[in-house]
Amino acid sequence: MQIKQVRKVFEPYFLKAKELYGFNSNIDFKIDLKGYSTIGQCIWRDKKNFTIRLHLLLLEKYGDSYLHDVLPHELAHAVVYCLYKNRVKAHGKEWKRILKSFTLVDSKVKYEVLQKIRESKRYRYGCKCKDKVHFISTILHNKIEKKSATYLCKVCKDTICLI
Ligand SMILES: [Zn+2]
Ligand SMILES: [Zn+2]
Repeated sequence: MQIKQVRKVFEPYFLKAKELYGFNSNIDFKIDLKGYSTIGQCIWRDKKNFTIRLHLLLLEKYGDSYLHDVLPHELAHAVVYCLYKNRVKAHGKEWKRILKSFTLVDSKVKYEVLQKIRESKRYRYGCKCKDKVHFISTILHNKIEKKSATYLCKVCKDTICLI
């Protein structure tokens, strides 16, 4: 999906912010988030220049639903900053009130795809079961490496090893 489409979905939210709060700052978009902990982010240099960072994979996979979820959320951060600077909490009552006033579509997406990214951050271990992959956390993996832990497959009872 292109920035053009992002701007199209963003437009009505932006107009609302303008109408309700006199918000008229410049908002840029960057599609560069890749991890599994941040689904969107609003950063700023000053009251006039904001950048909303979007998640590459979520945008691709969930399209407009993702945008209707994340754009009003991030825009509300920008409006809060213009009205209150850093005097209020990021997700405090001012932010909640503003976000509520933007609501056009109720879009609460469950981002299952993030679970997959999470899993891919884990170590993959195999056992005797055909094609079975055990996703092992870094903590457990380190223990196994130091031989302070072993882990058996519950099905084949084999000691799993790194694949
Ligand atoms: Zn937020
Ligand atoms: Zn097994």
